[in-house]
Amino acid sequence: MTRLHQATNSCARTDRLPLSVAAGLARRLMLALLICVTWSVAHAETAKLRVATRIVPPMVVEKNGVLGGFSIELWNSIGRRLNRETEYLVLPDVRELLDAVENGRADLAIAAISITAEREDRFDFSLPIMNSGLQILVRGTAVNVETNPLRELMQLFFSRTLLVWLGIALLLILVPAHLMFLVERTHHSGIIPTKKYFPGIFHAMFWAAGTLATQADQMPRHWMARIVAVLWMFTGVVFVAFYTAQLTASLTVQQIRGPINGPQDLVGKTVGTTRGSTATAYLNDVKAQMVEFEKVDDLYDALVSQQLDAVVFDAPALLYYTTHDGRGSARTVGEVFHREDYGIVFPTGSPLRKQVNEALLGLRENDTYQRIYEEWFGKR
Ligand code: GLU
Repeated sequence: MTRLHQATNSCARTDRLPLSVAAGLARRLMLALLICVTWSVAHAETAKLRVATRIVPPMVVEKNGVLGGFSIELWNSIGRRLNRETEYLVLPDVRELLDAVENGRADLAIAAISITAEREDRFDFSLPIMNSGLQILVRGTAVNVETNPLRELMQLFFSRTLLVWLGIALLLILVPAHLMFLVERTHHSGIIPTKKYFPGIFHAMFWAAGTLATQADQMPRHWMARIVAVLWMFTGVVFVAFYTAQLTASLTVQQIRGPINGPQDLVGKTVGTTRGSTATAYLNDVKAQMVEFEKVDDLYDALVSQQLDAVVFDAPALLYYTTHDGRGSARTVGEVFHREDYGIVFPTGSPLRKQVNEALLGLRENDTYQRIYEEWFGKR
């Protein structure tokens, strides 16, 4: 019995030993796994975020190798709120920014990236970070517009203004011409040589036209016709004064406006924009001769050095250029068209998007966003 008990006991002992070893091993394994998971989670939370960007003043500027600008300052504030450090990856154009996010070289991209339906299909966007849209940039300032006098004169000759004035003159001429015809044809030495309507009225119209534009070459004989003639001469003076004023105004307006004043004037013109930007799709649609540039500065230089007739690009960037480096050499014309918003781009399903959106809303609520905006774009 005792032996049996002993035997049972010894058997139980031999069974318990491997079990405890296994349990210890499992515990160690679990611990290692836990450490591993915690480390990778902690590492993912603290690892630098790889942010792709590109130079588009004033959204992204580079001074002495340091990045700044609206988008960069905004992102730095978001990064601080998320408690994450940033490693910037500066790329040449918007297409490469998007590719970097798509192929995992970057965790996100921020610059002057427009939210479009086609991009939304490939990526996830943050809440809009700024309103934008396209605008046209041309050479010259409002008072020093490049003009081609001969072309403008030709345009004026075939302009609506001139046609309207000619129409008015023709209608005006008919009235005194008929009065003159009726009164003068009966006078023995009147200026209308015939009583027949068509040759007579033609003669009278010629007289009325001459009197309107210059001076009466013949004086009517009948007293009633003379009253008509005097009144007509005064009308002529007023008419010529009005016409001259209109013509001068049209010429001045044309000189101030220049040949490109809106999207309708871009057809067939050599127009520059940045490579892969939303403006390229637009310019293809309007049938302009498009030239694509990588660097925004090269784009502006090409306009100033007359390689381009106009630039179509993001309105906030153009506004900044005309008030900074381009002041006095370029100006925007027409309204902002093709409205779009800028956003931060993430790979689809990125868990970062929600965190970034929360941070973004927080920055709007505590006025940091407003401060950064005003720093780069002035008060709204
Ligand atoms: N906003 C434009 C776009 O997203 C231009 C961007 C750029 O050239 O950087 O297509």
